[in-house]
Amino acid sequence: MTQIPPTIPLQALFDAQFNASRAQIDVPLALRRDRLGRLRSLIETHAGALSEAIESDFGVRSRQLTEAADLFVLRAAIGQLQKELPRWMKTRRVATPIYLLPASAHIQRQPLGVVGVIGPWNYPLQLNLGPAATALAAGNRVMLKPSELTPHTSALMASLVQQSFAAEEFSVVLGGADVAQAFSALPFDHLFFTGSTSVGRLVAAAAAANLTPTTLELGGKSPCVVDASCDLNDAAIKIAHGKLLNAGQTCIAPDYVLLPRGQEAAFEQAYTAAVAKLFPTLAGNPDYAAIVSDRHHARLVALLDEANEKGARVVDVAPPALGSSAPTRQMNPTLVFNPAPDLRLMKEELFGPILPVLPYDTIDETIAFINARPRPLALYWFGADTSARDRLLGSTVSGGVTVNDTLMHVAHEGLPFGGVGESGWGSYHGESGFLRFTQQKPVLVQSRWAMGKLFYPPYGAAFDRVMGLLRRWL
Ligand code: NAD
Repeated sequence: MTQIPPTIPLQALFDAQFNASRAQIDVPLALRRDRLGRLRSLIETHAGALSEAIESDFGVRSRQLTEAADLFVLRAAIGQLQKELPRWMKTRRVATPIYLLPASAHIQRQPLGVVGVIGPWNYPLQLNLGPAATALAAGNRVMLKPSELTPHTSALMASLVQQSFAAEEFSVVLGGADVAQAFSALPFDHLFFTGSTSVGRLVAAAAAANLTPTTLELGGKSPCVVDASCDLNDAAIKIAHGKLLNAGQTCIAPDYVLLPRGQEAAFEQAYTAAVAKLFPTLAGNPDYAAIVSDRHHARLVALLDEANEKGARVVDVAPPALGSSAPTRQMNPTLVFNPAPDLRLMKEELFGPILPVLPYDTIDETIAFINARPRPLALYWFGADTSARDRLLGSTVSGGVTVNDTLMHVAHEGLPFGGVGESGWGSYHGESGFLRFTQQKPVLVQSRWAMGKLFYPPYGAAFDRVMGLLRRWL
């Protein structure tokens, strides 16, 4: 049974972190590495217990999925932080423009202070401890509020963090929406939120009251464009993998497919075969995760009911489908062909194993369709025709892209990860994450030989001569 740490009142915890951050502005490399080391050994030592906690939160979810999508990704991120930290922390010299010579200039990279992290439930280790690790690497104090929908995992994280960190260094705060609301009203130096677009709006508004800068990692409907030049069987298994990983409860899962008209039957066959290959059975198969809560399950069922009622063609994808009386919240993968745009499943982020398929006639049509909607978190393109690919990528804006696969851009620590527009703002992973939690302080060191006084009033002929000279130089 997880020991839940005694609760320190939110404001007192914030004050302790705030005071500690102001008492030690310069956080040396050794201390940052020590914090990352503690986090890493916490994860290594308790990987089994953390996986079990996730499994009991979901009801059905394999340890291998947690190993790949939570623990592996987290280890890779912390490993990169440990390796690159000395380089990323370094002061950057900046060349001085001619009109400021012989002054010198540099950029000093400093911690921001106290960073708040609010996280979701779908990959509870990666998406809570990942941003926390990056903020710690950048020398900050961190308060983390994980999701109430993964109570076992969140409580275990809180307990383990408390055993390895002082409260003013790194703390986990437990609670639901009321706690989250009070949390997001604290005057953090930065607030990092991962979750839905609707809650993201509330978080941004709460943070704005304190002029707290935010990073919003939100959701949305990520399109997957299948080009006529693509190998449909290869695309189908990659789309099925991206869609059905964690039963569709992945922020960058392909939300819907845009398919060349006339290929519907071939795609249905290829997708069905792909699902059967990935999941030879569904009921009780831990590789096929359950939907996280009854509320989320009911929402997805309602989306399908509406699609059925309004005449869309809904296909239950083999293998032996789960009946509606399945003892777990596992939900059948479905394809929905040609849904009307006013269906809820074409307006809301799906976050489940439902895949709408919309036929198109021209690339222009796909570009117009995507651009008429909020900018997506991810976009996928499948095909061999590179000019069609470049046209689509050059004509649409999305948080990130994977070509000829799904999800994979998130796993590349050298690529900034984040949304744009309604799918969020600000990116992290790698150095872009480090910089998200860093003040890049510009410093100009004036020289005693500086010419600045030439620009002082009273303005006269000397000033005009200098400006004339500069105009010719620049
Ligand atoms: P959610 O928005 O319901 O909850 C996220 C967190 O916000 C939770 O910790 C919750 O307690 C907290 N919260 C709830 N009400 C709040 C309030 N009023 N003020 C402040 N915080 C509040 O999201 P979720 O259901 O946990 O996660 C699913 C959503 O997250 C999907 O939309 C998905 O696309 C998105 N997501 C995005 C990313 C990404 O990296 N962009 C990753 C994972 C999930």
